[in-house]
Amino acid sequence: MSTPALGVDRKIYRVLAHAKPRAIIIACPDPRIWEATLCFIHEELGLRYGEYLFPAQLGGVVALSQPVTMPYASQHYGDTLEFCFKHFPSLEEIIHINHDDCARYRDFHETIGKFFLRGAPDLSERQRRDLGLASGLAPVVAKRPLETRQFLMQYANADRTEAYFDPA
Ligand SMILES: [Zn+2]
Repeated sequence: MSTPALGVDRKIYRVLAHAKPRAIIIACPDPRIWEATLCFIHEELGLRYGEYLFPAQLGGVVALSQPVTMPYASQHYGDTLEFCFKHFPSLEEIIHINHDDCARYRDFHETIGKFFLRGAPDLSERQRRDLGLASGLAPVVAKRPLETRQFLMQYANADRTEAYFDPA
């Protein structure tokens, strides 16, 4: 333990001495939706700080569904899960959250074209299908049985200043 040097005024922040996270959340860190995502986690999922791990993953689960085009991101996803489940035995659930108008998904769609949709009518449906895929693969990647939930954040107004989270 140390204190700020004499005469130095530092703001002090609260730190959890013990944390037993029960959920790992894979979600896109898009700054537009960061606040909404955290509010959803706290207010609807009922998880508090310390009860979840949030290793940000650009594009949410897209890395898992594009292992050939995103080998490093896909490997990173697997490594992250493996590390988290090894070091936090309290984990019992994985929650995947994708969001509407995700730049990562849009980028793939623009680069690869309609084949990226894999038969889905639009990007939103492609994302829902990826969430289902992730929910099936996560226990395999984590090498243990676990609860899975997945959600797709969608905008609630034309200005895109409000959103809701749909189970997917
Ligand atoms: Zn995104």
